[in-house]
Amino acid sequence: MIYDFLVIGGGMAGASAAYELAQHGHVILLEAESTTGYHATGRSAALFTRNYGGPVVRQINAASAEFFRSPPKGFCETPLLTPRGCLTVSFGDHDAQLDALLALSEQGEEIRPITPNDACAMVPFLQKDRVKRAVFEENVTDIDVATLHLSYLKGAKARGAKIITAHPVTTMSHDGDIWSVQAANTPFSAKRVINAAGAWADRIGAMAGAAPIGLIPKRRTAIIINGPEGLDCTTLPAIDFAGSDAYIKPEAGKLMASPGDATPSEPMDAWPDDMDIAVLADWIQRNTTIEVSRIEHSWAGLRSFVPDEAPVVGDDADVPNFFWLAAQGGYGIMMAPILAQLTAELCSETEGPYRNLFAKALSPKRLVDLPE
Ligand SMILES: Cc1cc2nc3c(=O)[nH]c(=O)nc-3n(C[C@H](O)[C@H](O)[C@H](O)COP(=O)(O)OP(=O)(O)OC[C@H]3O[C@@H](n4cnc5c(N)ncnc54)[C@H](O)[C@@H]3O)c2cc1C
Repeated sequence: MIYDFLVIGGGMAGASAAYELAQHGHVILLEAESTTGYHATGRSAALFTRNYGGPVVRQINAASAEFFRSPPKGFCETPLLTPRGCLTVSFGDHDAQLDALLALSEQGEEIRPITPNDACAMVPFLQKDRVKRAVFEENVTDIDVATLHLSYLKGAKARGAKIITAHPVTTMSHDGDIWSVQAANTPFSAKRVINAAGAWADRIGAMAGAAPIGLIPKRRTAIIINGPEGLDCTTLPAIDFAGSDAYIKPEAGKLMASPGDATPSEPMDAWPDDMDIAVLADWIQRNTTIEVSRIEHSWAGLRSFVPDEAPVVGDDADVPNFFWLAAQGGYGIMMAPILAQLTAELCSETEGPYRNLFAKALSPKRLVDLPE
């Protein structure tokens, strides 16, 4: 069979693209691992933070909110978002950062200053004498990543897509019309290939004969710890610390913390570095009243970026019918609904709202003009 669309990668990008593309033709999705969502998608902080990232990313996040709040009928049975809020605290001279955040406040999406006392009442493990300023973003929410990912895969299958795991793509060739793709010694044919391979996207590009987009996977570490004795962590907001990349957020009754690291890495099954964990535990003890007596769990995942830190969505500049859906950085869950709809618009050449808004800014062709 010749598929219309062959999607490589079963993370959030590939799953959401398969769901949207399945309305326009026969779709097959090939995932290298024995389960989908094993890499970046299964390792995220699961936050929807509309004001995170550069201007294009923030625009995409804002556009995604509608899908999350009102997903298509029958897509999922439980809400995709739950309220969380995010408190940004400053211990020193970080007025520029807090003022820039406040400047993003809009009607219905308010960001407001709160007093240091109120901040400490909201998050009792802050050191009272150190908080100088605080800002609260009401509209930051948790995303139910597992439900979103599963619903995309189930929805894609219901629309006729085939999802195959344990099939790493190893070779690809193109005869002018049709792609021939080998995965786990099985040949597949398709008119168009969608490269949603996460940290491996440049490797897939090389197989297709495409020039690299300059993707750099960057490792980010996370740990789970207990909150202070007797504190109900479930209702706390996420906490950002101005002047630091570290953050803390509630996670299933405990706390997830990350140093906000971004260590360049090869594409791989990432794992946390012991030293990063030790430095983070020490940072938490020095900057909060939490006693880190035990690391319950730790992990690391790769967030993959091109130099301008916007995603890469569109046809390759030279290789025909080879489509990039890559470089989602630290925002790939929250941007997924819009990037998948844009992918379907561009690949099926149908009209839709996102081509005009985002196609040029996200095109792989823009990378050709970037300075070295
Ligand atoms: C610690 C951390 C915190 C994060 N927090 C957030 C957050 O709060 N909110 C947010 O929106 N985003 C967050 N992110 C980013 C988000 O997780 C990613 O942007 C997103 O998951 C990327 O999805 P993806 O499908 O592109 O990549 P992946 O999930 O990595 O999927 C790519 C898939 O391609 C497969 N693949 C690779 N090579 C082949 C091949 N040859 N053949 C077949 N399949 C192949 C891989 O096995 C993998 O399953 C975070 C990431 C990390 C690591």
